[in-house]
Amino acid sequence: MSYTSVNPYTKKISGTFQTLTDSELKDNLNKAERAFEKWSRTSFAERTGLLNNTASLLEKEKAIHAEIVTSEMGKPIKQSIAEVEKCAWLCRYYADNGEKFLEPLKLKSTAKLSEVWFEPTGIIFAVMPWNFPYWQVFRFLVPNLLAGNTGLLKHASNVPRCGIAIENLFKRSGAPDGVFMNLFIDYNQSETIISHPTVKGVTLTGSNAAGYRIAELAGKFGKKSVLELGGSDPYIVFQNADLQKSSETAIMARFQNNGQSCISAKRLFIQDKIFDKFFELFKEEVIKIKTGDPMDPETLVGPIARKDLLIELEEQLELIIKNGGRILTGGKRKSPGSQILEPTIILDLPKDSRLLDQELFGPIIPVFSFSSEEEAIQLANNTPYGLGASVWTGDEVQARRVAARLHSGMVSINNMVKSEPALPFGGVKASGYGRELSEFGIREFVNIKAVSFFW
Ligand code: NAP
Repeated sequence: MSYTSVNPYTKKISGTFQTLTDSELKDNLNKAERAFEKWSRTSFAERTGLLNNTASLLEKEKAIHAEIVTSEMGKPIKQSIAEVEKCAWLCRYYADNGEKFLEPLKLKSTAKLSEVWFEPTGIIFAVMPWNFPYWQVFRFLVPNLLAGNTGLLKHASNVPRCGIAIENLFKRSGAPDGVFMNLFIDYNQSETIISHPTVKGVTLTGSNAAGYRIAELAGKFGKKSVLELGGSDPYIVFQNADLQKSSETAIMARFQNNGQSCISAKRLFIQDKIFDKFFELFKEEVIKIKTGDPMDPETLVGPIARKDLLIELEEQLELIIKNGGRILTGGKRKSPGSQILEPTIILDLPKDSRLLDQELFGPIIPVFSFSSEEEAIQLANNTPYGLGASVWTGDEVQARRVAARLHSGMVSINNMVKSEPALPFGGVKASGYGRELSEFGIREFVNIKAVSFFW
């Protein structure tokens, strides 16, 4: 197995990296173990200093990092810059708030005094996807470093230069040797890492198949795991919603990152009374989307990250059409050799089609109408996934009622679903378990130690 960096737009190969030998991996694990021993005893001031340095470097070098992202996985350049800026925001957020989240808590108990301490546990092993190749890594790493844990990364094999650049960035920001390492490993070597006694947690963001495999290994060795898996988020527009805003926002909600986001709006539900009006506005915006070179700042939709993923999407589209779906826009590549799939609207797919159980990881949006609030909730929940949901309504009471009944980890009212440092991020059902970000994320892999004084 090797890690290869192929530009999905130009098809140019800019690097191939061999996987580590077992003995190299062992050396790296020994180094990581020594690094944890030291890092877990550093002060918050030292950890905060590292995060602030990293944020400053990212802000200074954002164009360089964004270019690496775009050239490896095809994200439009403006969005790559935004991803890098968001990583800097995350570093600053935990530098400013992390210590407070980990302050000992006092609890009432049968003891004279009880406290809860939050202590580092060990090395956290992360298996990460290519679709937000910086953000996903930062999301696991930053809170863990602040908590005194350290990190090892197995990045997706199509974004090796992102993995290298992130490791270098932390080194240049002052991270001691071994505190964070990007490792080019094959699937079997994951087991070696997870079985290591100093590795105390495993976090995977990616597909269900990969997630369940990694969680199985975590179970085998008794390690805690967090899974951030796929999604098929509903985007529900009620008749009293702001149609202009909801139709405009639906464009970014579905098509950002070339449609390859776990929290994209993957199913659009519009109340029947406003269906035609909303749909006209939405369709007009979809037709205007500029597709093409992701390095062009005007491009909104660029190439699918890998050819095999494009072929998978085309097969899903074929099945959708066989099962009654009608393509209204797009549905084909920009040109035969290109990896760009034109933004695609699907109508007429039966609402209960089991094809919707599969995640559509590209610029494709099936659109449905519904008649009542009850029907909207039933349709929205009719998926194995439960990551996010976007609800558009002018009525706060309705918003609360609907949000309470949606089976998801996140609900956004009158906006698209977005992640941000202060909010817990994660899903239910087949979308995984555990949370990242916020004060909840930083406590996933710490030892929550109860200390009671009885004198
Ligand atoms: P993927 O194919 O599952 O890959 C994710 C990572 O898992 C990659 O590093 C991959 O390595 C590794 N992997 C796969 N099988 C493995 C195995 N048996 N043992 C060890 N490692 C293994 O997913 P992807 O295509 O990169 O990402 C897209 C998926 O991620 C979508 O389903 C999306 O919804 C989900 N996602 C979820 C979130 C969230 O927060 N919930 C965020 C972003 C993306 P290789 O590249 O070497 O195969």
